[in-house]
Amino acid sequence: MTDASSAGAASRAVPSRLVVLAGPTAVGKGTVAQCIRRDHPDIWISVSATTRAPRPGEIDGVHYHFVSDEEFDRLVEHDGFLEWAVVHQAARYGTPRAAVEEQLREGRPALLEIDLQGARQVRERLPEALMVFLAPPSFEELERRLLGRGTEDAAERARRLETARAELAAEAEFDITIVNTDVESACQELVELFRSGSARGRL
Ligand code: 5GP
Repeated sequence: MTDASSAGAASRAVPSRLVVLAGPTAVGKGTVAQCIRRDHPDIWISVSATTRAPRPGEIDGVHYHFVSDEEFDRLVEHDGFLEWAVVHQAARYGTPRAAVEEQLREGRPALLEIDLQGARQVRERLPEALMVFLAPPSFEELERRLLGRGTEDAAERARRLETARAELAAEAEFDITIVNTDVESACQELVELFRSGSARGRL
């Protein structure tokens, strides 16, 4: 991890309030978020809305808000999203704005686990957010993880790998990189960012 806490001890007293976790497909963002959800209930994690169908085991309102195209359109029209994007040319995903704003108003640490397009929108709208890039140890490892997951068909996997190559190149746009060598360590590094704050990551 690159330490961005260069402003010294004074800045550490003010924790980061909003952390955006992005990175290439299959890098393990969801697993790291799950680890935070399990071990750090004090950190609120945004529940996105999506137009894709639930996978087996996914619960509406817990993993996502599963919505129709019409409902998603309605939310976009009413400025209901902090950000939204079409991901993998397949479905729309968006971060409900009101819930995030409420957390920030109440001073609770909040985590968004979203794709790169969404992360760029949040950076525009909330420049104080701490942008964290979750990187794989290597592209080969990323490919292995993507194929190993087995939840997508061949065409979908090819599409996601193509997206991943472009996404890896975006690392430089982020404040901090966490390499996801193992989930527990990545999870711990992310939690530390909330605890310690950082030069740019304060709201
Ligand atoms: P999956 O369909 O595998 O759950 O997620 C696909 C991708 O959508 C992941 O890269 C995930 O980070 C991204 N994603 C999930 N929620 C959001 C969101 O609210 N906004 C954006 N822009 N991307 C999201």
